[in-house]
Amino acid sequence: MALSLTVDVEEWYHDLWPGADKIIMEYYHHKLPQGTFVEPLRAILQMLERQRVRSTFFILGESAEACPEMVEEIYDKGHEIASHGFRHRDFTKISLDEMEEAEKRNRDFLGKLTGEKPQGFRAPLFKINSDVIDSLEKVGYEYDSSVVPSISIPGWFGYFNAPLHPYRVGGKEGGFFEVPVAVFPYLRLPAGGGWFIRNFGLRYVEMAIRLLLRKGLPTIVYVHPLDVYSDVPRLEGIPFHTTRRCGEYTLKAMEHILENFDCKKMPIQDLLREYVA
Ligand SMILES: [Zn+2]
Repeated sequence: MALSLTVDVEEWYHDLWPGADKIIMEYYHHKLPQGTFVEPLRAILQMLERQRVRSTFFILGESAEACPEMVEEIYDKGHEIASHGFRHRDFTKISLDEMEEAEKRNRDFLGKLTGEKPQGFRAPLFKINSDVIDSLEKVGYEYDSSVVPSISIPGWFGYFNAPLHPYRVGGKEGGFFEVPVAVFPYLRLPAGGGWFIRNFGLRYVEMAIRLLLRKGLPTIVYVHPLDVYSDVPRLEGIPFHTTRRCGEYTLKAMEHILENFDCKKMPIQDLLREYVA
C-alpha cells in the first residue's frame, strides 16, 4: 500500500486559528508579508529529495503569484502540482459562481507555469461540501483531498460517515475522486497533519498510519510550511498549540515517517492511477 506526504503551500499565518486574522493584521500593520513559505518549503523539498520521495503540493494561487519560480522548482523536482484555491478562505461560504471563476483562473495559471493543468484540489481550511465538489468537477479537476473523515470537531473537521479510502463522487465519466486524509480507523480521530505531530507527538500519527496501511488503505498525510517554520512569531491571543514545536522537530518527524514505513510513497495522482482508477 502507499503513503502520500502532501504539502499545502501557503503563508505561515493561513490556516491558523479562528480569530487569528485580526491579531496577525495588527502585528503586520495591515501589510501581510508574502513568501514566508519559501524557506520552510525548501527544507521540505530537501528532505523529500534525501528520502527520494515524490509527492503532491497543494499550492495557494496567491502564493504561486508571489513566487512563481517556487512552483516551477517544485514541479522540476518531479512533484505533482495541485491547487489549494486561489485565496485562503472558506469555500463553503462564497458563491459557487465566484468560486468557479477564481478556480478556473487558478488552474490555468498553475497549468501555465508547469505546462500541465493540475488534477487535484484541497480546500483551504479543509472546508468542503457537495456543491463545491460539483463545481471543482466542472472546472476540470479530477480529485479533491479535503475530507477528513473524523469525529466532529466543531469549526474544523467532521465527515464521520465518509469512507476512509479514496471514493468516487459526482457524475464525471471515468470518475471524480475524493481522497480523504488519514484518521484512526474505528475511533475516527484525526491524525493526518503536522499539528497532530507537534501537539500529540510522532507516535500518535505513526500509529494511525500503521493501522491504515495494515488495513490496506492508501494513506494521505499533510504538512504546512508553518509546521517546519522556525521563525514563527509567538503572538498574544493565538493559542500556544497552533505554533507549538514548529521547525526542526516536525521536519525530523516527517523524515522519520518516510524512513520508518516500508511502503511505496507517491503523489496522489499516481496513487489513484495505481490503486483506485
Ligand atoms: Zn491551507
